[in-house]
Amino acid sequence: MSALSDFLYHLKTITKVFFTLLVLEVIILIRSIMGLSPKSDKSLITSNQYLNLIEETNPTIRYTKRLRMDQQTECAVCLSEFEEDEEIRKLKCKHIFHKDCLDRWLQHCSATCPLCRNKVLPDDVVASYHRMRDRVDSDESDEDVILMLSALHGTGFPRIF
Ligand SMILES: [Zn+2]
Ligand SMILES: [Zn+2]
Repeated sequence: MSALSDFLYHLKTITKVFFTLLVLEVIILIRSIMGLSPKSDKSLITSNQYLNLIEETNPTIRYTKRLRMDQQTECAVCLSEFEEDEEIRKLKCKHIFHKDCLDRWLQHCSATCPLCRNKVLPDDVVASYHRMRDRVDSDESDEDVILMLSALHGTGFPRIF
């Protein structure tokens, strides 16, 4: 008889845990569906779209001897000299930088030329990109839910069988 009431007690616990998991998983599902469709909000652009815009406005070119005539022989971001055939970008202000150095600068510092502070991208593009980044940063709460969920999956179920 006590075995049966034990069983019923555990059953109740399992049901409770099960429904908690169910609710959490539905929350995660809804959030991931909303998170995966940034296109629904046209005012936000992703890192890829941002990089594509940089590429469109300042196409990647190769460093050649001809460019060496421009006097600028080193990249102002990493302070190393340009090598023949390296991927670079030339901005409208005529300043040149390594492609990777400039992309990193534009993504993490500011959307202006590292040397003369000329605007590289329009303000609204930069604003949308930063809004998107802020939103990604503030989505850390998702990780908490997932962590809680994995903890529940790992230890939550009483071993009765
Ligand atoms: Zn560089
Ligand atoms: Zn410049």
